[in-house]
Amino acid sequence: MTTPNSRNQTLRSAIVVSIALVLIFLVVLLVWQDSLTLEGEARIMGISIHITATGTNRDKINEAINVAFDRMRQIDQRMSDYREDSEISKIKRAAGKAPVAVSHETFAMIQKAIEYSKQTDGAFDMTVRPLVALWRDRTEEGKSPAQIPPNNAPPSEQEILATLRLVGYDKIVLDPAGQTVWLPERGMSIDLGAIAKGYAVDEAIRVLRAHGVENSLVNAGGDLYAAGINEDGKPWTVLLRDPYEKDRSKIRVWKDLKLHLTDKAVTTSGNYERYILIGGQRFNHILDPRTGRPVKALDSVTVVAGSCLEADVLSTVITVVGVQSGLELLKQFEGASFYAIPEFQSPGFDRHLEEP
Ligand code: ADP
Ligand code: MG
Repeated sequence: MTTPNSRNQTLRSAIVVSIALVLIFLVVLLVWQDSLTLEGEARIMGISIHITATGTNRDKINEAINVAFDRMRQIDQRMSDYREDSEISKIKRAAGKAPVAVSHETFAMIQKAIEYSKQTDGAFDMTVRPLVALWRDRTEEGKSPAQIPPNNAPPSEQEILATLRLVGYDKIVLDPAGQTVWLPERGMSIDLGAIAKGYAVDEAIRVLRAHGVENSLVNAGGDLYAAGINEDGKPWTVLLRDPYEKDRSKIRVWKDLKLHLTDKAVTTSGNYERYILIGGQRFNHILDPRTGRPVKALDSVTVVAGSCLEADVLSTVITVVGVQSGLELLKQFEGASFYAIPEFQSPGFDRHLEEP
């Protein structure tokens, strides 16, 4: 016989069990939703870009990834020097002829690049392009024996000096009212190759965050930003590979490094993947704009910084100025540190190597 009392009790325990089941279901749902990690890949700026993003809504994450890629395409469209129709190419074609009106974004980027040049005493200089072209023209790479120029040797001192006359960020004339850029001499050009990738990564992150995606990793061929945490709730881990692994003839000076990053960017400037080969000799594709020659001292510089733009500038510039001046420069960039080859670590870099 069931008394009203025991019926009440049965009812109460049924309710408790139901609530518990609902709670368990909600927790499972939450955990399951939290672990949603999506990946996207697109070919932009001549390289493969990867975005990893976590969140709870598949459609929203996919939408965010697509808009982020679109944003990077837009930057490439404006700033690439490979595209004939980019604003940078238009400025180059009009050198010595007329000022060119550009988008607010490109104008601001050029202004920013001039600031970096001032900050680095000209070690960073986007007008270095004619020199890069002078050296690149001499390469035998990608050419059949018949195509190799007879002067397949590094440029002469005279040629370098002649080209240096076309280089200098202080020659650029900007008109903020008309948003125009004017290169006063024919043959001058602008090259944002050392920073556009970093900027594009930052912009992709900004777009992802604006779409509610707080945790993501945008990787543009090793120039990357790690926002928030990964699906395990930990900082993102990024593996930097020994650059000489592929080239056994080189002494191994670098071990694989594992970085742990939250809201940090990493970029590497190195001459092991991109370089200029002339007469079998390997030259760095980063030049010292003051001497007109490829830099020699450092084979590779990896920078961790608060933004990918800053990291990109610093990795290029530290390659030019070397370790000691690089350390001085770091004082102007809060929270930035670097790792260079031949082996050197700036204070603070090891912080990113430790398991948190
Ligand atoms: P990567 O292209 O491997 O990411 P960087 O970010 O260091 O390497 O950029 C290298 C490019 O920057 C070169 O291909 C060249 O076009 C340009 N560049 C070379 N030297 C300088 C310099 N001193 N200042 C600004 N840009 C440079
Ligand atoms: Mg760079």
